[in-house]
Amino acid sequence: MSTAPKIGLVSLGCPKALVDSERILTTLRAQGYSFSPDYAGADMVIVNTCGFIDSAKAESLDAIGEAISENGKVIVTGCLGVEEELIRKTHPKVLAVSGPHQYEQVVEAVHATIPPVHDPFVDLVPPEGLKLTPKHYSYLKISEGCSNRCSFCIIPSIRGDLVSRPMASVLYEAERLVKAGTKELLVISQDTSAYGQDIKYATSKFRGRDVRAKFYDMCAELGELGAWVRLHYVYPYPHVDAAIDLMADNKILPYLDIPFQHASRTVLKAMRRPANQEKTLDRIKSWRKTCPDLAIRSTFIVGFPGETEADFELLLDWIGEAEIDRAGCFEYEPVAGAKANDIDGAIPDEVKHERFERLMQRAQEVSVKRLAQKVGRTIDVLVDDFDVTENQAIARSKWDAPDVDGNVIIDNADGVKPGDMVTVKVHDSDAYDLFATQTAPD
Ligand code: SF4
Repeated sequence: MSTAPKIGLVSLGCPKALVDSERILTTLRAQGYSFSPDYAGADMVIVNTCGFIDSAKAESLDAIGEAISENGKVIVTGCLGVEEELIRKTHPKVLAVSGPHQYEQVVEAVHATIPPVHDPFVDLVPPEGLKLTPKHYSYLKISEGCSNRCSFCIIPSIRGDLVSRPMASVLYEAERLVKAGTKELLVISQDTSAYGQDIKYATSKFRGRDVRAKFYDMCAELGELGAWVRLHYVYPYPHVDAAIDLMADNKILPYLDIPFQHASRTVLKAMRRPANQEKTLDRIKSWRKTCPDLAIRSTFIVGFPGETEADFELLLDWIGEAEIDRAGCFEYEPVAGAKANDIDGAIPDEVKHERFERLMQRAQEVSVKRLAQKVGRTIDVLVDDFDVTENQAIARSKWDAPDVDGNVIIDNADGVKPGDMVTVKVHDSDAYDLFATQTAPD
């Protein structure tokens, strides 16, 4: 029987925080710890927090409180960790606090509370590390931090400026993941298009070859590994154009997650968004000409200070014209320490709600239209789940990222398992999902 100390983990926040959690688990596992899925079975609990906006902070503080009352031994890490005073004031019983990607401090705090017990039978870590996502898809974090200074965001003050990983290190990790069964690599960072800028696009050796830490090179190299490659958090800079050719050639998925946040020049300038001077509508149109299958996901903020009705209507029209396939929307919320708090022209809550509803309505109209265009097509999908009662498989197409986008529902899916890549014919669509039946490849 294993005597390994058991650690519980509560992981909150975005995929970047999830990757931090995976690194912490991998290190602890290599040191002989094991894990408990519940508070009762854990010797101590790590809470990886999110501190992006006030509601996320509140959720993190609640999660810490719950872990203390259910387990008692709690260490806190992640984005909210930079506000140690707030955490300690709210929850004085917390044992240790560290910030984002401070893996070593987390591991030291675990050692201080429960020293590791060496056990050769539990010290085995698979070469791809421990993952919190299903085996068939993995987040691949290419950099930490961000050198932009968007006025509503405090991430650079929490996570620091951009620090890119060497290209070879990213590629070796991607290769290990693919060997271990990953069929989809989701590239994440705070600003994927800026990859390598901080290290002057340095070269490193991958399998004896020089590879450059540059956005296009990364896309091209990952595209050779035999898995789907999906790009998140890209900005519409001119150098992104070249990656669209790779999409048209089926090297990487025809999918771009671009957090546009707005379309009005005035608002984008006040937000200090990267690429706010670019002619994005023209750029999107030319991308779609090169790669008609391209799907664009984006998020938008409504009710930013100073946003006029005209700015907002421009945004609604823009979403229609750019044919944004998938849209998420947030009502602007001030974040303590953000520069945007000094901007005049706060928007009343009821106006923010109303704009939110109108934006989601417009986004849904676009989504309905875009998805209807897929009916009749034969496509490959990756299966995430199986619903036994309905005999349906829940899958995703190249146009759908996990968790945030829609699904492809396959009926009469006997024998289909999560992780399978199957060919289906789309026979129907609704606002967010496609409906399909298995078929032979074209
Ligand atoms: S790009 Fe802007 S919003 Fe995104 S992390 Fe950097 S500063 Fe924050």
